[in-house]
Amino acid sequence: MIMKPKIVDPQLSFTGSLTVIRPSEVKKLVQHHMAQPTWDVYDVHQYHTNGNGWYGIGYNWWIAFDGTIYEGRGWHVGAHCRGYNETTLGIGYQGDFTKQQMTNAQLKAGIALNNWLISQLPGVSVRDIVGHKDLVRTICPGDHFRMKELKDSISAPTAVSKQPADIPSVTPATTTSIVDYLKSINVDASFRHRKQLAQYHGVRNYRGTAAQNIELLNKIRNGRTAVYHKGDMQTPSVVDYLKSINQDSSFPHRQQLAKAFGITNYQGTAAQNQQLLKQLRGR
Ligand SMILES: [Zn+2]
Repeated sequence: MIMKPKIVDPQLSFTGSLTVIRPSEVKKLVQHHMAQPTWDVYDVHQYHTNGNGWYGIGYNWWIAFDGTIYEGRGWHVGAHCRGYNETTLGIGYQGDFTKQQMTNAQLKAGIALNNWLISQLPGVSVRDIVGHKDLVRTICPGDHFRMKELKDSISAPTAVSKQPADIPSVTPATTTSIVDYLKSINVDASFRHRKQLAQYHGVRNYRGTAAQNIELLNKIRNGRTAVYHKGDMQTPSVVDYLKSINQDSSFPHRQQLAKAFGITNYQGTAAQNQQLLKQLRGR
């Protein structure tokens, strides 16, 4: 019996409703570093929300230097590995493991969390613990990520019938009503909210017609719409970029963002705007 590790709820608020990920859909556990030497779970949430324009922190769970495990998106589709979000869970670790060492406490927490997850996931075993770089071109989680030690310490069974527990109930795949479906996953089913969801999932001019409802239901249920929406990646203007991710582009807000990204004495010069834009896009 593998115990569930203690997971702290950091009380993050997300800007949109998340899609439940079913244990049977999960194929891999993807390990990440944040590539920022100091950022904590709140910094990451702030960056993924205001910088990337996502609904909130992209990782499913987060492990701090001291080994505290925080809930990020939990059992919902994450935004951490482009192309794989609907079939993986992402664990983010504090630090930049191209330069810093992963702490012993992080390793221990990583073992506990991955071990427990494997025990909850019918299609996942120790082989399915991977680094971000194993799936897409990136250096994440960095050379100092202690992958071998992590994998060597996993004791969860590889092929037994595993009974998922403590996971949000999911909808019968049969309902054809978007309203019932949303209610079943505890999501606001009002017209107003469905309209927002429709916009997010690319269902145009949503008026709540039967055809639109079915289209929306399929998109949400299949989780095929990536949680990524990075905004206008072409524009050279930080104001236009912020508008493209529906963020306040006023000077005071840019000033706040600049401060968050360590751009000192922001006055809105062209050079500072370029720098801010680069940071916001995560490049
Ligand atoms: Zn990564």
